[in-house]
Amino acid sequence: MGRAFVYVILGGGVAAGYAALEFAQRGTAPGELCIISEETVAPYERPALSKGFLLPEAPARLPSFHTCVGSNAQRLTPKWYKEQGIELVLGTRVKSADVKRKTLTTAAGETISYKTLIIATGARALKLEEFGVKGSDAENVCYLRNLADATRLVSIMQSFNGGNAVVIGGGYIGMECAAALVTNRIKVTMVFPEPHCMARLFTPKIADFYEAYYESRGVDFIKGTVLSSFENDSDGKVTAVILRDGTRVPTNMVVVGIGIRPNTSLFEGQLSIEKGGIKVNGRMQTSNASVYAVGDVASFPVKLFGSDIRRLEHVDSARKTARHAVSAIFAPEATSDFDYLPFFYSRVFTLSWQFYGENIGDAIHFGDFLAGRFGAYWINKGRIVGAFLEGGNREEYEAIANAVKLKMMAKDEAEVEKLGVEFASKV
Ligand code: FAD
Repeated sequence: MGRAFVYVILGGGVAAGYAALEFAQRGTAPGELCIISEETVAPYERPALSKGFLLPEAPARLPSFHTCVGSNAQRLTPKWYKEQGIELVLGTRVKSADVKRKTLTTAAGETISYKTLIIATGARALKLEEFGVKGSDAENVCYLRNLADATRLVSIMQSFNGGNAVVIGGGYIGMECAAALVTNRIKVTMVFPEPHCMARLFTPKIADFYEAYYESRGVDFIKGTVLSSFENDSDGKVTAVILRDGTRVPTNMVVVGIGIRPNTSLFEGQLSIEKGGIKVNGRMQTSNASVYAVGDVASFPVKLFGSDIRRLEHVDSARKTARHAVSAIFAPEATSDFDYLPFFYSRVFTLSWQFYGENIGDAIHFGDFLAGRFGAYWINKGRIVGAFLEGGNREEYEAIANAVKLKMMAKDEAEVEKLGVEFASKV
């Protein structure tokens, strides 16, 4: 015996929340939709976990950051789901799926069947053990993917006064956590193998700005090496990290942000997989017509990049793919293929940047790096394909986004450099 729904969303993260809003706005009948989530709380804006949630004063706590506050839409509290007749099946892990029989089986053994499934399982944090390092289950080593991780991180941070933290990984999780730790008066050392931070996105010149800023806030960088082992006390707590180059860094805690792996495993062998994610078409439909995939777990064609299949790990993409899938389910005729401008942002200390498009071709920097108002365009084959801006205002971000969306011609690189944001405003 089990339960049956018309629509099931598997996963209760960002994409699930935005999909639920779209379902409600399109008039799902009570009892038709259920959301199954391993987490014990209703969908929330995950980016808050490395920002407002970690603040020492007036930290963000649920219910304040339930979806869909992140895009200034309605805040969907558990009460809202109840009022809509949307069933939240929380604290429940799905352990197997059968897309032919249209069923999911939970860890407790319940079978939940659907007519249409939306996979929104997101991703999990990669573990150090997957890179051959042992001991990351120590009580003062943290990863950061969900509310439970963030709650743990806060309690470890508060278990000592001042002190030191080592942050492993120079991506945005590492950068945002390092900033939060500093704000909590903890001395931070960041360790990563690349020559500079945010290596997948930043140019060396952009990275120089952020690294110098971080150094001015007391952060040390150890680059070009990786963690090789932990030193522990008799309780098993980590007291120092040992790096491959032999450096030993004493520490009170360790935060690890070394990348993520999409949660595809339930569907491997059942649905097409590409670029590490579940492959979907422009309607977010997988290789099985009754199953859709959205958010971090989905690999979808990006029209702007010649319909190249991409898997994006960003909140804006989770929100928009989710809404698009629901629109394709309800109004297939009226829903055209997803046309998305890839967008990513981060906020650290009082800094804040946005990036649109992709970072291929020549990077042309502009603006005042000393004053913290600068950016870069990426120009490929004479056109703007990517744009980055630190410290912009709404109009400026809109302008650079448009320049990328329209693939603005940019033949004269000297002019682009001189005009900076103004160049995009010519759109
Ligand atoms: P998720 O939000 O991860 O949700 C997946 C859900 O599925 C989870 O609830 C999980 O428990 C559940 N689940 C998975 N497997 C199962 C199963 N078998 N059974 C039941 N439930 C399951 N992006 C930005 O663009 N800017 C940022 O500043 C930014 N900051 C971030 C900060 C942090 C700390 C993190 C972790 C991410 C951040 N992101 C940011 C990325 C953004 O949050 C993700 O892109 C977004 O959450 C993806 O949404 P999703 O719904 O696909 O996956």
